[in-house]
Amino acid sequence: MNSDREDLVNHLKTRGITDQAVLDAVGKVERQLFVPDVIKHHAYKDVALPIGHGQTISQPYTVAFMTQALRVKKDSKILEIGTGSGYQAAILHSMGAKVFSIERFYEIYTKTQKLFDDLGIRVALRCGDGTIGWEEFAPYDGIIVTAGGPNIPDKLRNQLAVGGVMVIPVGDRRSQTINILTKVDEDNFEIIEVPDFAFVPLIGRDGWKEV
Ligand code: SAH
Repeated sequence: MNSDREDLVNHLKTRGITDQAVLDAVGKVERQLFVPDVIKHHAYKDVALPIGHGQTISQPYTVAFMTQALRVKKDSKILEIGTGSGYQAAILHSMGAKVFSIERFYEIYTKTQKLFDDLGIRVALRCGDGTIGWEEFAPYDGIIVTAGGPNIPDKLRNQLAVGGVMVIPVGDRRSQTINILTKVDEDNFEIIEVPDFAFVPLIGRDGWKEV
């Protein structure tokens, strides 16, 4: 493992990430490939970084925390809302998940699609409003939303498999609580809430309206 990534993995351990599969993925995926050239020297700092269009690549701790909460297994079918740089999707892919990811910005979607093509990473990408999910491939074993909205979209609840986990930040525009939902049966969810995260806004039919 490259020493910058090794330092990052050790840092994540001290912050309480214990899932070895998640730590291995952070140790493997080259985050510098997912950040703009001019800030590559910051790639292994535990901070969110700008990726253009007012969007960010999430902080590594947040990626690791959410991925650990998802309880990914090999061949799990995972839906991600908010492809962004593709880093989170690449982490899930490197853990053996089948990843479906939606991004609303066309320019970000095409850039990340090209990056995945260049790297030979097979993730299904779509450009559109992720608050309505991706019905065609539902149900999903896991759903991860990497932008913060005002509530939990019904369509995403419906597209989660029974026994599956959804990880989604919910709050106001400034600060959000990560909700970890386990679908117990068709109508019931167990919810764990972890406060004090900051995501870019989830904008769409069942999210915030355009700024
Ligand atoms: N997972 C990304 C995080 C990017 S930030 C990464 O690893 O880099 C969140 C992304 O969600 C932004 O690119 C933003 O454009 C996108 N987004 C916001 N609302 C969305 C929606 N309704 N559907 C799909 N993508 C959305």
